[in-house]
Amino acid sequence: MATTPSNLIDGKAFAARVRDGVAADVTKLKSRGITPGLAVVIVGEDPASQVYVRNKVRQTAEVGMHSVHHEFPANTSQEDLVAKVRELNADNNINGILVQLPLPKHIDEVAVIETIAPEKDVDGFHVINTGLLATGGEGMVPCTPLGCLLMLKDRLGDLSGKKAVVVGRSNIVGKPMAQLLLDANCTVTIAHSRTRDLPGEVRAADIVVAAVGRPEMIKGDWIKEGAAVIDVGINRIDAPELGEGKTRLVGDVDFNGAAPHAGAITPVPGGVGPMTIACLLKNTVTAACRQNNIDPNAL
Ligand code: NDP
Repeated sequence: MATTPSNLIDGKAFAARVRDGVAADVTKLKSRGITPGLAVVIVGEDPASQVYVRNKVRQTAEVGMHSVHHEFPANTSQEDLVAKVRELNADNNINGILVQLPLPKHIDEVAVIETIAPEKDVDGFHVINTGLLATGGEGMVPCTPLGCLLMLKDRLGDLSGKKAVVVGRSNIVGKPMAQLLLDANCTVTIAHSRTRDLPGEVRAADIVVAAVGRPEMIKGDWIKEGAAVIDVGINRIDAPELGEGKTRLVGDVDFNGAAPHAGAITPVPGGVGPMTIACLLKNTVTAACRQNNIDPNAL
């Protein structure tokens, strides 16, 4: 049997546990006459998006939810896409709506996202949900940072007082991640491309979340002994060692350099990625509960 180092956070196994919890919640909701429903909308034929959408649709059905999937050609007009979102907003069988990003260049992503009813915005990208997260309200939380937080809490327990650095300040990962860590009572630094002495900022941190999009940028000797390292990055690099023309996925952290120092670390692949879809399913259950005046924590 293969052994895994004790500091490895197995995102695949953890995501399976989250999905089991979601499936149990779906069963309870169904016994009350409610079948949570998720609609996924995709425009165009971006191969990576197609793979994500296929996985999302399959996993939604596997946990017993109602799953619908709308595909539009790349030349679809913004008007038609917005009309579909409005139709889904009004559909009582649908509790969550996800529009797969990126959208083709002629479509204004913000305009489409802002059309989604905030209570059905299971990606948590609507400005109302962003605002609720920033002000401690009860909105929908973006899936990737939510997955990172769940893994950190599972491994470390109470995060109060820990020093966290989030490298990256995007609206979909870095900023909501920092907000969640702040809500969990961490002392949070947000680093970005203009940060001075990034290695120094990382060395001071008990928790490092890397969301940069640069292969293996965060080096092993930047990691404080015992720190928890969550690698959000997904980068495809050439891998001539695997054969001519082959590629492989790596994160934003130099895993082999960082693992000997880290108290806990996520691999790429098999870390944050699987948790993102699991949290999408979790958010859909949360949305279905709230839309039916049920406390999701009291199912
Ligand atoms: P963005 O490109 O939107 O943001 C990247 C951030 O990294 C920016 O804030 C940028 O700073 C910062 N940055 C870039 N270069 C440096 C540098 N040299 N030093 C410090 N900071 C730097 O990326 P995303 O947040 O969308 O995604 C980040 C990574 O996470 C990507 O690899 C993406 O594929 C992956 N991802 C994975 C998901 C999953 O499910 N596992 C989900 C979403 C994303 P500045 O703002 O100053 O430009």
